[in-house]
Amino acid sequence: MRPLWWLVVWLAMAVGQVAVAQEAAPAPPCYKIPSAQEISSNEVISAYRQQSCPQQFVPESGGWLAADIAMLAAILLLGCVMVWRHVHFRRFWIPAVMSLLYFGFIRGGCICPVGSVANLAIGLRHPELIGLSTGVMFLLPLAVALIMGRVFCVAGCPLGVLQHLLGGRRPLKIPVVPHAILRGLPVVALLATAWLALRGTCFLVCLLDPYKTAFFFGYGWIQRGSHWLQGGLVEPGVLFVGDLTAWGIFAAAVLLGLWVYRPFCRFVCPYGVLLGLFSMVAFKRRQIEQSQCVQCGICEKQCPVDAIVRNPQTKQLTISSYHCIQCNSCSSSCRKNGIH
Ligand code: SF4
Ligand code: SF4
Repeated sequence: MRPLWWLVVWLAMAVGQVAVAQEAAPAPPCYKIPSAQEISSNEVISAYRQQSCPQQFVPESGGWLAADIAMLAAILLLGCVMVWRHVHFRRFWIPAVMSLLYFGFIRGGCICPVGSVANLAIGLRHPELIGLSTGVMFLLPLAVALIMGRVFCVAGCPLGVLQHLLGGRRPLKIPVVPHAILRGLPVVALLATAWLALRGTCFLVCLLDPYKTAFFFGYGWIQRGSHWLQGGLVEPGVLFVGDLTAWGIFAAAVLLGLWVYRPFCRFVCPYGVLLGLFSMVAFKRRQIEQSQCVQCGICEKQCPVDAIVRNPQTKQLTISSYHCIQCNSCSSSCRKNGIH
């Protein structure tokens, strides 16, 4: 249980940021990722990170808007085909790396369907503040979840990919009671994100996200590199993008991830709650064919998110559509071909 202390450290630091956000100077008028020219100075990067509660949004430029939507649609389509055809889970690196490179490092982790939860909460009061790409980013993975479950989690989410890549290979089995409590945290995060966004306090989901520091680090270096290649000036001697708090939260989450598979996805992500609810009524839900199942338990051990549970009375194994991220690990490992 000791690794779970890293969860406490990470959440405590994130909540500390909320308190700072409450006392901070009035929120900036808009949320804006710095351009290649602007990012050559570190003050701009610090100012970017302090935009914890934007009040309005810069209109998305036509080119990026189309590229964002097209890329998300392409990744989700590829993910759906792979889930449908029960492609081996190791092959999911193809859409996953596309998502990490594009939404993580080229777009700097923003815009992202996970963060769009807060934008949409503000939009309940001010619909005019929801940009087209924010709306599509929010709705498209949910629409896919209605058809095939949480394909976005396995194939399209840059946060999920990064956790998978940075995760340890021997995940800890969390005891039943703490596990049940931890699994309730995303619901609290969803309600708190919506409430704080509606009050105009902060974008809690962005403060809780430990991985955006890494995305912005990559984005910063890509932007600095392209600026330098175009003959622009780049501040010398600056190796790190981000501040100590941001890197501290990142380090706590990575350390936790060495023992707990996808800790943000399973115990924090508010968007995962919505994806899970939509997946429960999906057209194609993953199921165990009871007539073929010999209850060997291999799939139960393979499932990285503990979505397969055994009924203590009947000993039958069933899959929770809410928690299943459609990774195909169980169907790839079932020797009786009993998972569809
Ligand atoms: S649970 Fe949230 S963070 Fe994890 S992969 Fe799904 S949407 Fe992304
Ligand atoms: S039940 Fe578990 S192993 Fe099977 S697809 Fe879902 S998440 Fe993966």
